[in-house]
Amino acid sequence: MAKGPALVSATAGRAREPIAAEPVIGLEIHVQLLTASKMFCGCAVAFGAPPNTLICPVCLGLPGALPVTNGRAVALGLRTAVALRCALAPESRFHRKNYYYPDLPKNFQISQYQYMDHPPLGSDGWLEFTAEGAPRAVRIGRVHLEEDTGKLLHVEREGAVSHTLIDYNRSGVPLMEIVTQPDLRSPAEAREFLIALRAMLQYLRVSSGRMEEGTMRVDANVSLRGADGAAGTRTEVKNMNSLRAVERALAFEAARQADLLAAGGTVTQETRHWDERRQLTFASRVKEEAQDYRYFPEPDLIPITVEQAEVERVRQTLPELPAQKATRYVSALGLSAYDADLIVRRPPFAAFFERALALYPNAKALANWLTGDVAGLLNAEDKEVDETPLRPEGLVALLRLIDEGRISGRIAKDLLPELVRGGADPSALVAARGLEQISDAADLTRLVEQALAAHPGAVEEFRKGKSRALTFLVGQVMKETRGRANPDLVNRLLRERLGG
Ligand code: ZN
Ligand code: MN
Repeated sequence: MAKGPALVSATAGRAREPIAAEPVIGLEIHVQLLTASKMFCGCAVAFGAPPNTLICPVCLGLPGALPVTNGRAVALGLRTAVALRCALAPESRFHRKNYYYPDLPKNFQISQYQYMDHPPLGSDGWLEFTAEGAPRAVRIGRVHLEEDTGKLLHVEREGAVSHTLIDYNRSGVPLMEIVTQPDLRSPAEAREFLIALRAMLQYLRVSSGRMEEGTMRVDANVSLRGADGAAGTRTEVKNMNSLRAVERALAFEAARQADLLAAGGTVTQETRHWDERRQLTFASRVKEEAQDYRYFPEPDLIPITVEQAEVERVRQTLPELPAQKATRYVSALGLSAYDADLIVRRPPFAAFFERALALYPNAKALANWLTGDVAGLLNAEDKEVDETPLRPEGLVALLRLIDEGRISGRIAKDLLPELVRGGADPSALVAARGLEQISDAADLTRLVEQALAAHPGAVEEFRKGKSRALTFLVGQVMKETRGRANPDLVNRLLRERLGG
């Protein structure tokens, strides 16, 4: 169906030395869907429940238990496939992916496999995003639904695994798998793509998309393409538990392959695990071929049928997506494209911005504070804004205190960390600590004259034309008042006295 925009090569328009080998990266992303119950049974989906308490004959794979597809999971998959501009299969089937491993009690995973006549839920879409300030598009090969496996816990004693525990609470939890074409050309670009995809999933409310909590899991295929365009052998990298880990693991893997080839070796097609502690990838197993899984249609489930009218209805009811939101912030609110992107890529941040904007109409001032000082504090604490006590009302109260001339911008910056960490009321803080700005001309004149008397050298330099001396004198008054003096007024009073 939908034809994507012309793909923008990662190297287009950039002057660059010819490179011997360019990374070719494709991603396979599993996201946990925000449903109340599991994919094929009524067991609850919940984090942190005691092991093996959210289970039933279906998700334990007991003989004779029959699965029933979770309609909510299908709706979330459909919403995502539409947002990613995929072609929707009028009829898609579930398949059994057979393998033996204790995390999978049935000995097969119910998934959707692509047969010629059995397409997955969605295929051939694309996602636009921004990397290094330039627009990019990555093709989405497919979007399909499947179920999660149980969780193994390897118990170590004296440095060796003594036994393994299994928790089947996660067995049967609804997953959506999104597979990209190998269109990414650098680890940094892969990271930017994942940020954009995560934002989209969060705006769509289909997944919390948190890599650290395992609700978004990323595997990557990496190969090197020679200067002649010949494709190299690819490896699959797993076990990356953060965006930073993805970027580092891909950089490590591309460099490892380049070193191997430069030394006359060959790359082996294999699965490699990222070791976060040692910051390297290591070979874990030879990758199975698709035929090893003996896929065949799941006979216990009816196909998923999608009517064209339903696709249209979903398309009409999609929320504003990140790219549209960014465009609106630029055209309607006058933000820079850079600031707009920084705000929309984090949905809680965009929600905060919009709530603050309803209270305080200066979009640029809000964007400056959010993308500057607030973002800095959030990054330092590795938190999203909705995970802190900072509220739009608090930030707006702070900005109003500046606008009313009651505090200086300097004092506001000093108070902000307390709002982010403790949700303090700025007016109360200012009153309790006597931080009100001094804008009384008589008080400031006295301080200005003291500064002039104490620093005759600076006065001399200013008269010789060194404007830096004025900055120094303003600084002396600010220091004397612990940042409370109105800097504009101090500046004016100094100039009047110096005759500048
Ligand atoms: Zn169950
Ligand atoms: Mn999968």
